[in-house]
Amino acid sequence: MLEDKNQQRTPLEKMGEFGLIKHLTQNFELNQASSEMGIGDDAAVLDFEGKKTIVSTDLLVEGVHFDLAYMPLKHLGYKSVVVNLSDVYAMNAIATQITVSIAVSNRFPLEALEEFYEGVALACKLYNVDLVGGDTTSSKTGMLISVTAIGVAETDGIVYRSGAKPNDLLVVSGDLGGAYLGLQVLEREKEVFKVNPNSQPDLEPYAYIVERQLKPEARKDIPELLQKLEVKPTAMIDISDGLSSEILHLCEASEVGCNLFEDKVPLDPIVISTSEEFKMDSTMIALGGGEDYELLFTIDQADYPKIKGNPNLTVIGHMTEQKEGAHLITRGDTKIALTAQGWNSFDS
Ligand code: ADP
Ligand code: MG
Repeated sequence: MLEDKNQQRTPLEKMGEFGLIKHLTQNFELNQASSEMGIGDDAAVLDFEGKKTIVSTDLLVEGVHFDLAYMPLKHLGYKSVVVNLSDVYAMNAIATQITVSIAVSNRFPLEALEEFYEGVALACKLYNVDLVGGDTTSSKTGMLISVTAIGVAETDGIVYRSGAKPNDLLVVSGDLGGAYLGLQVLEREKEVFKVNPNSQPDLEPYAYIVERQLKPEARKDIPELLQKLEVKPTAMIDISDGLSSEILHLCEASEVGCNLFEDKVPLDPIVISTSEEFKMDSTMIALGGGEDYELLFTIDQADYPKIKGNPNLTVIGHMTEQKEGAHLITRGDTKIALTAQGWNSFDS
């Protein structure tokens, strides 16, 4: 795939490390007032003028977190940035800078890294963050990517996982399960392709869920929307691992329980139909599948009128006393204990 996409293949050795960094980062500008010094010195310098600084980092490993067989490098660059920004938004903060570190084998041509940085640049532009540094090295075991996202918030604006109280409403942005099903579709096409390399996959009917997998978006708009609505969540987390596991994180950090209502979980029609096609349960996918990067948060009941009817937000449950535990209330009105994988069908 790297071979046929890039006509030109400039070996990395030709560039030298410093030349390579310079080449890849030359078109990145600094747009944030807080970015005092970006790429080019021993360290970046940021000035947040007395506000709180938010820092989050992730490491992505080829073969574990991504598969270059179906992940175009531009998408990979974009996604690597976006999933980190999501963590900043989950603190109810504004993302301002990133650093990007990569380790690549020298079988990669320069053109492949250029593609990766095109994706990084697009994410920087759309999310209005500055690339202010990173590190570049070689790898003998596959590609490694580490992104650090930096953000800013007013002291009283930060939302932790730990603030939920019994009777708070549990709210989620967007819809769930798409990214996981998109991955299933891509994996299926990869198997078909192995058997018949001439097969042309028709991904068009699955465009939404494949995009949710390959080019996810972080919900920058949600902290902005909540501020406009004058709602400060009591607790918040982003959905990287699946609804169920994130609910349990909120419950644990906040020392509360939860009732989640199956019929309220937002699902796109294509998630429902593709689940049927794969003979999977769509609720199970929303609860156990990951990588949706939606925001999950709790609000005081008094704030309900402010969010009611907003097409971006769905109330999916409410928090309870900790001793009541975390449960899914099914469409059939059965109460089932939530587990990190989804729910525990042996334990009611
Ligand atoms: P050092 O030897 O001090 O680590 P480097 O030569 O690795 O310095 O980096 C020089 C500058 O280039 C630094 O500002 C660093 O943050 C930046 N940089 C290095 N690699 C990358 C990269 N992959 N993406 C963005 N900036 C990078
Ligand atoms: Mg370095």
